Amino acid sequence: MSKIERLPDICGVCGVCVAVCPQNCLKITENVLEILEGCDNCGYCLQVCPLGAIKMEGGK
Ligand code: SF4
Ligand code: SF4
Repeated sequence: MSKIERLPDICGVCGVCVAVCPQNCLKITENVLEILEGCDNCGYCLQVCPLGAIKMEGGK
């Protein structure tokens, strides 16, 4: 289960995180970033987000 969380007030829906996710579990639908099943909590998305709009439960 995914421990990552998006912060919708901060996210600019740029798609950078979607492009780097190795599990293809990030998706932009109707201008909202969605986190789908399959996240392995690798943390790449939060490392690349230019706005710091993704955080991981319990740290980072
Ligand atoms: S990289 Fe950050 S700002 Fe861009 S879509 Fe992902 S969460 Fe939103
Ligand atoms: S933590 Fe890794 S697997 Fe999960 S959404 Fe981010 S990039 Fe994808």
